[in-house]
Amino acid sequence: MSYECAKCHSSMEEGFLLEKGHYNDLSSEVWVSGSPDEKSFLGRMTIKGKVTYNVRTFRCTNCGYLESYAR
Ligand SMILES: [Zn+2]
Repeated sequence: MSYECAKCHSSMEEGFLLEKGHYNDLSSEVWVSGSPDEKSFLGRMTIKGKVTYNVRTFRCTNCGYLESYAR
């Protein structure tokens, strides 16, 4: 499946946004349902019980526009 840039209609290349976590752990971004303001009882952000999707981000090879899809 190929995507076309919404801005300049050039071709998009597939990739993902990299998240640099603690201790330089590398992971891709994840889409999470709900609000990031919902904290656990320890006051930490939590994704327990939430719907998550891996996010794929396409980059326009011409203008650099980014478009993300959570599937
Ligand atoms: Zn473009």
